[in-house]
Amino acid sequence: MNPSPVLCWLRRDLRLSDHATLSRAQQCGPVLAVFVFDPALLTGLPANDKRVAFICAALDEIRTRLRALGSELVVSYGDPQQQLPCIAQDCGARQLFFARDYEPMALARDAAITQILETQGVTVEAVKDQVVFEQDELLSKAGQPYTVFTPYARAWRAQLTPASYAAWPVKLESRYFAARDSLPAQWRGDEKPIAVPGFANANLAALTIQTGERGARALLQDFATRIARYGELRDYPARKGVSYLSAHLRFGTVSIRELVRLALEDGSAGAMVWLNELIWREFYQQWLWHFPEAEQTSFKPAYRNLVWPGEDSHFDAWCAGQTGYPLVDAAMRQLKLSGYMHNRLRMVAASFLVKDLLIDWQRGERYFASQLLDYDMAANCGGWQWAASTGCDAQPWFRIFNPVTQSQKFDADGHFIRRYVPELAVLDNKAIHAPWLAKTLPETFLLGRDYPAPIVEHASQREKALALFGR
Ligand SMILES: Cc1cc2nc3c(=O)[nH]c(=O)nc-3n(C[C@H](O)[C@H](O)[C@H](O)COP(=O)(O)OP(=O)(O)OC[C@H]3O[C@@H](n4cnc5c(N)ncnc54)[C@H](O)[C@@H]3O)c2cc1C
Repeated sequence: MNPSPVLCWLRRDLRLSDHATLSRAQQCGPVLAVFVFDPALLTGLPANDKRVAFICAALDEIRTRLRALGSELVVSYGDPQQQLPCIAQDCGARQLFFARDYEPMALARDAAITQILETQGVTVEAVKDQVVFEQDELLSKAGQPYTVFTPYARAWRAQLTPASYAAWPVKLESRYFAARDSLPAQWRGDEKPIAVPGFANANLAALTIQTGERGARALLQDFATRIARYGELRDYPARKGVSYLSAHLRFGTVSIRELVRLALEDGSAGAMVWLNELIWREFYQQWLWHFPEAEQTSFKPAYRNLVWPGEDSHFDAWCAGQTGYPLVDAAMRQLKLSGYMHNRLRMVAASFLVKDLLIDWQRGERYFASQLLDYDMAANCGGWQWAASTGCDAQPWFRIFNPVTQSQKFDADGHFIRRYVPELAVLDNKAIHAPWLAKTLPETFLLGRDYPAPIVEHASQREKALALFGR
């Protein structure tokens, strides 16, 4: 075995099991795992950003496990284009592995780093880890990228073989990792918990989700007992119907292949519905890779020049969960408090911003990006453009969610609303969905004082949206 360490640059794969990059790297020499905090990605984030806390917790777990094997997780702060060549040189590494990322900025960064390292004599290998099928592994018969989900999903299933989702084994033995003692002192971390300068040190209290690979495993084990009922319960935000694994998928504290194995081994109808959602994730990943402009503009050219008449004060009310539409407000408050929003509510809240408040979907997309713990450019742009009817295989422009009937249908007893909009808790199950329509309200409750009256009227805004999109 080559004694010089092989660098494994961790990014969206913050775990030590079923890990394509680590597994490939271990075939070439003792692995030195590296993580770089890139200021370009951190600038502008608030000091208590939940994602930074989530990453730090996952890295702490990895570092503890690697140290128990006598190795180290090298954590550095700075531009990876400068940091990685330094680490490679200081540690005598001749090879670097990383898992491919499909976001436009990441692709440009990775190409630049590859060139710099190769000039320095370090060979670089990018590996597929984040998805089952990537880039143009799935194309239509005409050789074109899929822009409609159903045929994509059919092709995805048809091409799937056990090899597609087989685990990439990681050998958790000292001899497969670079020894900590062999590293130059500056790359050996201290005993303090991993933290990013300028960010609240591991602001874990703000997280309502278990962190790290251990946290992912606990969630997965719990979900495995419920997966059969996923299809039946997944649309009800007050029920424990979904997996809550999105942040773990985002940061790779769980492997997508493990999730596919879980679904296939379970085989229930619920598991198949869930597998479909994992395929949606891949659909959007390949979509963004093929159409990187979708990050910046409407996918459908017809909607690129829409002039959105919505008001700034309405945008602020939407962000604050003060629109006067209880389900929308509960959803927006859940997002702000926890960094998570249930999928049904993401659809309702996004549709409300675009088709009731007539505000550009990109403003909503950016707000979600700033708040979501599971923020993923492909899924977020895909979801927003779906709701705004501007994307690929999107909701037809004339289909507009009614925020009141959505509330009556998916939170009939108002459990979810009461949890996040406590000022409405005194209302009965009928009034809670649309207090302004109630014939009587409790004496202690005054609409406009205790909770806002609706900032717009759905029926008339709906007509305006139809006119805007149908023009
Ligand atoms: C406007 C809007 C914005 C969204 N932004 C994001 C985002 O930034 N990050 C993100 O991961 N998901 C996003 N989604 C998709 C979806 O809402 C979340 O993945 C889901 O709510 C996460 O909860 P869960 O892990 O319990 O999902 P589950 O229902 O348990 O689904 C399992 C996994 O499948 C994937 N998935 C499920 N639904 C979708 C979908 N519609 N599109 C793509 N992947 C999906 C996710 O990785 C999810 O973790 C967005 C959806 C909409 C409508």
